[in-house]
Amino acid sequence: MEMDSRCPECGGMWHNGMTCQDHFHQMLAWEFENPGGAGAVHHLSVLCYNLQHPSVYSPQALHGAKAILARYVVDGATPQQIRAQHKQSVDSGHRAYTIRGTPESQGGYAYPVNWTITIGDVTSGGLAGYCERVEVWSGSVYEALVNSGNYTPLP
Ligand SMILES: [Zn+2]
Repeated sequence: MEMDSRCPECGGMWHNGMTCQDHFHQMLAWEFENPGGAGAVHHLSVLCYNLQHPSVYSPQALHGAKAILARYVVDGATPQQIRAQHKQSVDSGHRAYTIRGTPESQGGYAYPVNWTITIGDVTSGGLAGYCERVEVWSGSVYEALVNSGNYTPLP
């Protein structure tokens, strides 16, 4: 019996009914159980999962998430630096948009994206080497967004 299907958002294979969200929950469990190990890449895993499933975001939040990914991948920024950068506007209530996508207003890409790594590829290797695979995943997500024309790097 054929049990495999594809994710409608990222195109990743769902082997034996294991969805991208199931893989994401596995990642969160590993990260929670290993705060000094797998947990070190939590900021990247959440960002990559959401960017590959953009409907979880509002259009404005998707725009911001791409810029944050670039800060991590290109500039080598730390989560602390990103938080500090965004703290002021959030604390003062100046955030002008909602983060979560709704059926009426959700993120999406203008051009089709060819993701070279999807979440099932990252979890399939297990906990060993997890952080390295998430790092590679984040670089591939950034490249796919640039190559597809959905993100233009700042000069
Ligand atoms: Zn997916």
